[in-house]
Amino acid sequence: MSNYIVLVKQVPDVTQITDNAFDPETGTLIRSRLASVINELDTQALALANRMKHLKDNGSGKIIAVTMGPPMADEVLRYSLSRCADTTILLTDMALGGADTYATANPLACAIRKIVKDIFGESSDYYVICGMQSVDGDTAQVPAQIAEELALPCIAYVTGVECRNSRFEFTRIISGGSQVVAAKKLPAVITVAKYEYPLFATFAASRRAAKTQIIRWGAADIDAPHVGAKGSKTTVIRVFPPGKSSRKCRQVSDAKTLAQQIIAGFKTASEKTQTAAQAVGYVLPAKRASAFDRNFEGTKKECEDYKILADTLAKLGVTSISQVDNEVQEKVLAAAGEHFHKKALEDMIAGLKVTGPAYTGQVWVVAEHNAGVIHPATLELIGKARQLADNLETKAGVVLAGYKPDPMAKELIAAGADNVYIIDDKLLTQFDPAAYQKVVADCINAYWPQIVLFGATPQGRMLAPMVSYRLGCGLTADCTGLDIKDSSRKAQVAVLMQTRPALGGNVMATICTKSSKSQMATARPGVMKRLPPDYTRPGKIIRHNVTLSDSDISLEIIKTELGTGQVNFNAEIIVSGGKGMQSRDNYEKLVGSLCSALSSRLGIQVERGASRAAVEQGFIERIHQVGQTGTAVGPKLYIALGISGAIQHMIGVANSETIVAVNSDPAAPIFKQCDYYTIGTLENIIPQLIAELETK
Ligand code: FAD
Repeated sequence: MSNYIVLVKQVPDVTQITDNAFDPETGTLIRSRLASVINELDTQALALANRMKHLKDNGSGKIIAVTMGPPMADEVLRYSLSRCADTTILLTDMALGGADTYATANPLACAIRKIVKDIFGESSDYYVICGMQSVDGDTAQVPAQIAEELALPCIAYVTGVECRNSRFEFTRIISGGSQVVAAKKLPAVITVAKYEYPLFATFAASRRAAKTQIIRWGAADIDAPHVGAKGSKTTVIRVFPPGKSSRKCRQVSDAKTLAQQIIAGFKTASEKTQTAAQAVGYVLPAKRASAFDRNFEGTKKECEDYKILADTLAKLGVTSISQVDNEVQEKVLAAAGEHFHKKALEDMIAGLKVTGPAYTGQVWVVAEHNAGVIHPATLELIGKARQLADNLETKAGVVLAGYKPDPMAKELIAAGADNVYIIDDKLLTQFDPAAYQKVVADCINAYWPQIVLFGATPQGRMLAPMVSYRLGCGLTADCTGLDIKDSSRKAQVAVLMQTRPALGGNVMATICTKSSKSQMATARPGVMKRLPPDYTRPGKIIRHNVTLSDSDISLEIIKTELGTGQVNFNAEIIVSGGKGMQSRDNYEKLVGSLCSALSSRLGIQVERGASRAAVEQGFIERIHQVGQTGTAVGPKLYIALGISGAIQHMIGVANSETIVAVNSDPAAPIFKQCDYYTIGTLENIIPQLIAELETK
């Protein structure tokens, strides 16, 4: 009989942010001022578990809901009891607080071991089911790290389940399409990307939920080695408000003006010359003009304190750290007044004495590819790795694992890599998380690069947490900024500052790695810039051998559906239709005619795109999908019709010069992420727009 452990989390309700939830001084969100709710995707995990339970064993399996958090987190367990859970467990202990994903996954995995021993009688016929990610962190790391700790197969991004011959087969999202897979052995970890079959609380179930006793375990009960802030592998350096969108977000009320804006927007974009800002390079301390030059990342206060110190030393004519004696220190403290005291000054001086980088080794990217084609995110990351490696005066390397992957090495070198580490094995023909984890971790373990970057694609977001957890390294997910800086008072030189959005994009956080041999991050596709390919660049191929056997393969791939056909996403204009197109006919009529009208008006090719939802509805073939798991595009003009503006779609269009949106919902999120928008139904607006474009 199969049992189900569902991991649920209490999160701040980021959909209901009141004005007083922001700190007026820093502009950042104060988490404690937001209401708490169950993470939406965890409700879908409960629904999937309930479906699985009823598909097999006549519904006799048990659902155990588990959460980790403060005592008030028991609310999400009562929610789970009132829907489908049979038993609930609250992991609560001060010692567990302040944890990053590493120190969250570890105690949860230890709790699962205890459930298996105490409740399942050591049976291995169970599934751990969780939402793909939680809305507060959005990291999607914990499930994969739990799988790694327990050495279980992990099936991520699940959207459906069937039971065939007493075995579950899962449909899941992959880059460029979808796949049906089954775990080769049990237990297994499942993460749910979408399973919208809500469970409702009946009166009887609510009464039972109120009365049922919740099991409470503390840190001592589960005996986890890595807990709380102490057991974490990353630390938050600073939190700050997100910058204002560079998009104009201007409403255009009629089709005539919209047509004018589209033509004008396209022409201005065409005339614009590329003036890509040159990134200010980090310089290692030995090459700096002054011993007191520091390229710090820190809180506002830390940076101000350091400026006072540097200015005072300059005024005193101090040019070397050896000149900073007690007398100089007294003078600095006098100049600092109330700004900082002796201990802070001692920390800063200790920091100045450190000139050697905190990490050594190369900067690596783990390549993603499919059917001999390198994922664009890999090429973008190599551009970033090149810049970081130059800053650090080291080499940029790429790990290329696959079956006969050699032909791709040329493109990786042209994109900026110095070394390509090739791991070639027939068992790597298709991406299997466990097998890829094994070979990539083995290669990193052999060379220890100081930085390892993965694309924040479904594959990278699965592989990176498994590899980093296996190697005991910190990992920051979904970075939108990666820079080398010194840390202000931690006496650390040349560390990777990893900046990412948090709390649904309402705040930004800069994070750095601690207690790790390598700094690891995943970065959003479409954010880093790839370099123009240079096929004359020299590069070295290094072979790395790892022994793999069938037992290393964790998943059986039953069916893969990928886009086929031809599409030219290099077109200057892309018109995309979303679920709001309503039907394939409408898509053809509205998107098709708008493409033709633009094409004949401007004399250029216009390509059709689509959201994932439109593809899933069958409005257009998969190859046209734009976004995180489709193609990331960067046309001069991107027109989004009936597309809501989900993050996974917008990631893929971030590099577009002008974005125009038409949507009937005045509150559509895309309106905050575009340049021009019109509120209205497509059936109404598009024919008018076409008529305007046809009138010269
Ligand atoms: P919806 O969100 O349903 O929006 C439809 C919009 O149409 C609504 O805003 C509505 O107001 C509007 N509308 C309805 N009728 C009309 C009308 N008559 N006239 C005008 N407007 C109308 N999505 C992608 O697009 N690309 C990806 O690569 C991608 N990858 C994903 C990867 C993962 C792991 C996951 C979990 C999700 C991914 N998604 C992706 C899905 C994404 O989260 C959204 O579900 C999807 O983008 C929504 O598509 P949509 O905007 O067309 O549909």
